[in-house]
Amino acid sequence: MIIRPGGVIGILGGGQLGRMTAMAAARLGYHCHVFCPEADGPAAEVARAATAAAYEDEAALDRFAGRVDVVTLEFENVPRETVARLATKVPVRPSAEVLGVTQDRLAEKRFLRAAGIPVADFHPVAGAADIAAALERCGGRCIVKTRRFGYDGKGQVAVGPDIAPEDAWRSLAGAPAIAERVVDFALEISVLTARGPDGWSASYEPAANRHEGGILRVSTVPAPIGRALAAEAVALAERIAAALDLVGLLAVEMFVTRDGGLLVNELAPRPHNSAHWTLDAAETSQFEQHVRAVCGLPLGRTVRFADATMINLIGEEVREAARYLEEPATRLHLYGKEEVRPGRKMGHVTRLSPLSSG
Ligand code: AMP
Repeated sequence: MIIRPGGVIGILGGGQLGRMTAMAAARLGYHCHVFCPEADGPAAEVARAATAAAYEDEAALDRFAGRVDVVTLEFENVPRETVARLATKVPVRPSAEVLGVTQDRLAEKRFLRAAGIPVADFHPVAGAADIAAALERCGGRCIVKTRRFGYDGKGQVAVGPDIAPEDAWRSLAGAPAIAERVVDFALEISVLTARGPDGWSASYEPAANRHEGGILRVSTVPAPIGRALAAEAVALAERIAAALDLVGLLAVEMFVTRDGGLLVNELAPRPHNSAHWTLDAAETSQFEQHVRAVCGLPLGRTVRFADATMINLIGEEVREAARYLEEPATRLHLYGKEEVRPGRKMGHVTRLSPLSSG
């Protein structure tokens, strides 16, 4: 089903990814209705309508479904039941089935392995004994991550000779988890791919990502990898999107191993921080592409016309943001968040330089 300009896009989640999607939607003549538990978030501020209600509020969900033509999301931890309920009344892109895979790290890794996608060794964890067993199988070190609700490095603990499995298990508050082999990676990259209801896809080239304290700090394009590896990364992302039968956007985070191989780390079925550079340096931004994909419009070209470095403004850094306005070829994006908190993503800047490679 195609939703034409003038239609109403419902967005689940009210953060900066929803804000930038709503801004792109408005430029194409769509209206957005944001649904999230918080009033006055970054997305609601730029949308035509907003509902502040719990994701479990069935009456509010039914009213929302009656007022929109399609629903998408900017936050992948929306309860699956919420999406399934909406889907009985209105197209929801991506689907509840996709969320079922990507909300659970164990389901995600199993799905990827079954689809023949390379991933680091992993083991399910339901107690300290599983961590001890995983340590043995992973060479004495592993990373234990909660299966659900982890983001920006939260819900993760590195386990090695100096940390007892019992302490690691306690630090995760007994939440079901997954233990992964520690990857000695040369680089972290991500690919954002868009897929429409007709199965056509369009992908951006990989960005190279640097994290600090589990939070994305800098993304750079072009990534310092060869063309062959970049093409391989894009092909993997498109295979995953097709295997999920995804409609919308899929971000695929990967490790480039020291021997030049790729291992997929994580999926996110939504716009992604590491593709913010597309706002200023690509023919179509990821947010416009999101709108095009979920509305069934032709996908835009993903060609890049400048080299770009995207830097997140985290916490207090936002107070100095105005200085970027004095820098040439630098674009500042602020999310309008009133409360500054440590580790909170407040905005980003993208520094552009002439194209070094095509
Ligand atoms: P995640 O929440 O899975 O994206 O992990 C956050 C960050 O932790 C990643 O971007 C990596 O820098 C690091 N990390 C996660 N899993 C592993 C792993 N298996 N081996 C090495 N580093 C990892």
